[in-house]
Amino acid sequence: MARVEIRNVSLNYHTLAGEVRAVEDISLTIEDQEFVAIVGQSGCGKSTLLSLISGLLRPTRGSVFIDQEEVQGPCRRVGYMLQNDYLFEWRTILDNALLGLEIRREKTPEAVAEVKAMLKAYGLGGFEQYYPAQLSGGMRQRVALIRTLATGPDVLLLDEPFSALDYQNRLAVGEEVVKILRERRKTVIMVTHDIPEAVSMANRVVVMTPRPGRIRSIHRIKMCDEGLTPLQTRERPQFREYFTTIWKELNRDD
Ligand code: ADP
Ligand code: MG
Repeated sequence: MARVEIRNVSLNYHTLAGEVRAVEDISLTIEDQEFVAIVGQSGCGKSTLLSLISGLLRPTRGSVFIDQEEVQGPCRRVGYMLQNDYLFEWRTILDNALLGLEIRREKTPEAVAEVKAMLKAYGLGGFEQYYPAQLSGGMRQRVALIRTLATGPDVLLLDEPFSALDYQNRLAVGEEVVKILRERRKTVIMVTHDIPEAVSMANRVVVMTPRPGRIRSIHRIKMCDEGLTPLQTRERPQFREYFTTIWKELNRDD
């Protein structure tokens, strides 16, 4: 079943210097529980595309559908983890994790209990009353993810979720995040400029052209379809082949 359908979407930004076309004629259908990674060079329109899917931006042309319903603005079925989605340093871990629910005025005792259970399940049980500065980068990333999951979205949009982490942590946190998202049967669209990250986590990798961002090619990753974790995928010989193919696609001039 198609969860997300992007149909012929273009977006122009209006600036003092004139119009800038950020993304052009993008069409893509994402199945329920699929993990799609979008790779492209900096400035090619990746974040713009996620904002269009989330309903924060309206397309200049085309439409986006979630569960066959046209997106007219932000909706509860979609959770959006923005690039550099930092935690608030003056709020405790629990209060940070509850922020999304608070904004939606849905901080019921049941919802709070659910968030506490998630914190516990994901290794943050003893840290509810700590502050973000007292946590490692990987733990902070998990809190940000729990905050996004707390409002119960079916579709998650992740914008370079691991860019603040060092290499070792990226591997460990990527492994955890994939486990969490698979357990919870989420549909995921993740933007990154890191090809190995995309290949290790996704069912399909979409390569975008430089601005205005169009879809250049789409690559199905066999290892994810077979249920391998990101670390297992990285150990497969095919991993390098996928990397090379996608790297060439990304750096092709045309
Ligand atoms: P990416 O996430 O791939 O780095 P973005 O989607 O952030 O790219 O931006 C795509 C292009 O649109 C860039 O050239 C950027 O400068 C431009 N852009 C992004 N946001 C705005 C805005 N609010 N107003 C004008 N131009 C913008
Ligand atoms: Mg971006």
